[in-house]
Amino acid sequence: MVWQNHIGIIIILLLIACVFLWKFSKTKAAAKKTQAFTSEKIEFENKEQTHKKRNSELVEAVQNQKPDDNRKEEIHFTYPTTRYKFPPLSDVDEEIKIRSFRKRNKFYSVNLFNQTCTCDRFTRDKKSTYDKHDYRRLCKHLVRILYEFGDIDLMPPAFKCLLDEMNDCEWGARRADYRIAELKNFEILVGKSEVSEWFYVATKDRKRGIKTKNTHGYRIFPYNRKIGQWRNGYAPTYNVQIERMINSWKE
Ligand SMILES: [Zn+2]
Repeated sequence: MVWQNHIGIIIILLLIACVFLWKFSKTKAAAKKTQAFTSEKIEFENKEQTHKKRNSELVEAVQNQKPDDNRKEEIHFTYPTTRYKFPPLSDVDEEIKIRSFRKRNKFYSVNLFNQTCTCDRFTRDKKSTYDKHDYRRLCKHLVRILYEFGDIDLMPPAFKCLLDEMNDCEWGARRADYRIAELKNFEILVGKSEVSEWFYVATKDRKRGIKTKNTHGYRIFPYNRKIGQWRNGYAPTYNVQIERMINSWKE
């Protein structure tokens, strides 16, 4: 047989064909891999470019933003030039006895109509020299009797905030000259201490008003004009406008 004579050559040729095919398939796979890698790279670069573009657009938008002073100017507020006068505490002229908070056997006589008390503090701080309906005329006993016998809920919310504080604390009324101002269509009270650069602002505070669970939503924020800071860093809402009010304060 003829092919039997050439078997060696045929085997060699087959082997060469096999090697060639193997090589070819390997190259093809490598090319495929490279192609996939390249397209992935292009996709990544495109994505990155888009991201960079968006980023630069954002930066540009921020840089072109106008200062928000214009927006702040739009907030309505008035300066505290008028002394605050609280409403009548009672229309009944009567003396009501109250026990001293510290001395068990001591009693004072409180008159809500005349806004007077016979306690030492009322005499010592010369409270009777302040006009009726001036916050500085109040002592702790007047406030306690108002809570017990008066209609506390009829008091304006900002003033009720001051009363709440006085009723809860030990020292009674702050010697502060309270004036009334308007902020965003609600009344706020701004009081200057008679002895220091501290100002006390009874204002609505959205966050903290809810937290304290009081009905009026007001809270007192002390501000020191000398150092230009709110106590413990707690600034109320619209603090920029309030600081402007305080800085414009005239004795
Ligand atoms: Zn008193």
